[in-house]
Formats: sequence, structure tokens, C-alpha cells
Amino acid sequence: MTDMTGWSVERLHDDHAQALREARVLYDSETERQRLRVIENPTFGRILTLDGVVQTTEGDNFIYHEMMAHVPILAHGDARRVLIVGGGDGGMAKTVLQHQSVRQLTMVEIDAGVIEFSKEYLPGLSDGAFDDPRLELVIADGADFMRETEGGYDVIIVDSTDPVGPGEVLFTDHFYGHARNALSPAGILVTQNGVPFLQGDELSNTMRAFRALFRDAGCYIATIPTYSGGPMAFGWGTDGKARQTDLATLQDRFKAAGIATDHYTPEVHQGAFALPPYISRLIG
Ligand code: SAM
Repeated sequence: MTDMTGWSVERLHDDHAQALREARVLYDSETERQRLRVIENPTFGRILTLDGVVQTTEGDNFIYHEMMAHVPILAHGDARRVLIVGGGDGGMAKTVLQHQSVRQLTMVEIDAGVIEFSKEYLPGLSDGAFDDPRLELVIADGADFMRETEGGYDVIIVDSTDPVGPGEVLFTDHFYGHARNALSPAGILVTQNGVPFLQGDELSNTMRAFRALFRDAGCYIATIPTYSGGPMAFGWGTDGKARQTDLATLQDRFKAAGIATDHYTPEVHQGAFALPPYISRLIG
């Protein structure tokens, strides 16, 4: 048996594990809800894990955050009020707030420890987002918040952990129904929906719920190296026609936004909705 001392072994899946070398362990402790660790890896930089599962890394978080923030915001075209559920590391908030069109961002995070901790150990991820006057930070269970909110959000981003532990409630029909009610008329809901090759049931379940709720239900994909096992799926639900936004319009909006990116382009945006059969079969 290979000696894995000095490696962080992620056992999110039954038959597939991921190991990342721990050049340094910067933090290892329990919050009231989750086990928080930060390790340093020569390739991926600092890595945040919750209950042993990679949440985000300095090295490849840009792919995930750019695709979950820019795709719905630029497809929408006039997103002023945005809601993030989860996102404790602050990377999603930073990316959303790059859009000057966004006037108000609400972020509902269940574990204040993740926020405080990420500010200290992964400051580059939030990069000042927590000090942006447009940000309203709420410490609560996203499921409770969604049930009670007045709504009116143009984009809702569910940047949650996987459907285990506190994240489980964010993958239920009740939560999705409340999220739909919290959207403005042409609003868009996007969800972190795992790696279909290994977590196909999660995507199928979300798509079943979205098809019952939205005129346009589907997903788009992007490959994030530390969400191992192939491309990750992002659930997409809306009653509007944002998915049909043409390339020239996306290019104009992206240019006007004046945001520097390392993964997102309008062409990548459109291509992300082209699904291989093994994934399109999962969404029905
Ligand atoms: N990008 C990561 C991924 O794809 O797995 C997610 C990153 S972010 C750290 C996930 C956040 O969701 C964590 O901060 C966790 O505390 C939060 N979270 C989990 N369950 C939640 C809930 N029910 N309500 C609000 N936040 C929740």
C-alpha cells in the first residue's frame, strides 16, 4: 500500500479518490459545522477543504468563479441584484462584484468560520469583496433564507458544498422552488452541480426539479482540475430567453464590462452549453 503520509486524500466518491501533496499544512480545525483545512501545494497553491473535500484552490478557482458568475450575468444583460448562497471563501463575491452593473449583492453563508478563515488564509480569493459597500453578508442556512426572502434577484448563484452535511438542503425540490420564487421575471438560477461522470445522479435530480420549475432548464460545463473526474456541470434555470443571447451581444456586453478574465470569453460561454451525449442524457 502506497504511503500517503503528507498527502491530502479526498474521498468524496465511492470508487475514486484524489490526492494532493501537502507541502505545508497552514490550518486544520473544526468550526461548529465543518472541518476546515488549508494546505499548500506547489501546483495549486493554497487549497481549502471542508470535511476533506476540495472547496477551492488559489490555482484553479478562476475557472469555476468566472463561469458561475459571468455566464448568467452577461447572458442576463442587466443584472442589478444578485444572490449567492454559500461562497464562504469570497471568490464568487469578488467575481460578481467585478460587474459595475451589479448594484446589490447578498451572500448567505451558513458558516461564519469559513469567511473569517478565508479572509486570513486565502485573502487573494475575496480580494477585498467583503469590504465592498454593495455586499450584504448574511450568516444563515441558505434554505431558510430562500424560504423567507422577498426575492427580486436577477441572478442567484448556489456556490455550495456537495450534497452532504449542511449543503444537502441546497439540492432539494423545496429549495429550488423557493429559489425560483426569489427570482425576478427573467432571472437566472445557476447551481454547482458536481462532476457528472462521477455524480450523475445529482445532476439528474437537479434537472428533474428544474424542468418542473423553469421554461428553460439545462446545464453548462467547465473543467476545473481539482474537481476531479471530468467537466463540472452548472445547473441553469430561467423563464427568460437569456440562453439565446447571441454571440455579438455577449461580446458587446463583455467588452463594456471591462473585466479581465483567464477562462471566460463569450465564445467559451456559448461553447459551455454544448453538452456531450453522456451529460445531455443525464439532463433528460
Ligand atoms: N466551489 C466549491 C464547490 O464547488 O464545492 C464551494 C465553495 S464554498 C467554500 C461552499 C460553501 O457553502 C461553504 O462555505 C459552506 O459553508 C457553504 N454552505 C454549505 N451548506 C450551506 C447552507 N445550507 N447554506 C449556506 N451556505 C452553505
